[in-house]
Amino acid sequence: MKTSKCFSCGGEFPETVGPVHAYMKSAPGCWATYGEVLAREYSDPAYFSVHRLTVDAYAVQHPGSKDRQSIQSVAFHLIRLCMFLEHDLTAEKANDLMLEVGKYKSAFTWLSPPAFMGAITCADVERTTTVEAHKQRVREWARSSWDAWSLHHDQIRSWLPARQRSRHSSGASATSIVRP
Ligand SMILES: [Zn+2]
Repeated sequence: MKTSKCFSCGGEFPETVGPVHAYMKSAPGCWATYGEVLAREYSDPAYFSVHRLTVDAYAVQHPGSKDRQSIQSVAFHLIRLCMFLEHDLTAEKANDLMLEVGKYKSAFTWLSPPAFMGAITCADVERTTTVEAHKQRVREWARSSWDAWSLHHDQIRSWLPARQRSRHSSGASATSIVRP
């Protein structure tokens, strides 16, 4: 089957015609492959611990354009990635923390997406054949997608809920949010 590069994440995907997400813009083959990865994760609770990392990694590799919905989505998923990777957030606690983050989402600003989105994409996850390999690849994917945004790490850390943020002393160049 003929493949082509997704213009957003840079992964190689089957060249297909089909739907894409409303604001996480991608090649149709990329969106279809992500759908297969999600279907696998929904089919078995063994994937629960990495499912949110999958969603986050995909979202930050497909930031779309500069509209409000994209800005909030990218910021939300970068914040969650930061909390999973730097603050050992567990899947069980993720919802409560993100509800808190959702309260000040209107303060998020556009972050210019990196030119290189990392070497791992959902194509690499889709290729795995065991639960363990899938989970391991998702963790690597999440890490490399987070690293791709390193220019904005300080800004993203400044958007973390206060009790997480206090653990970072750097970030002088980042603008903090004044909450109501
Ligand atoms: Zn893509």
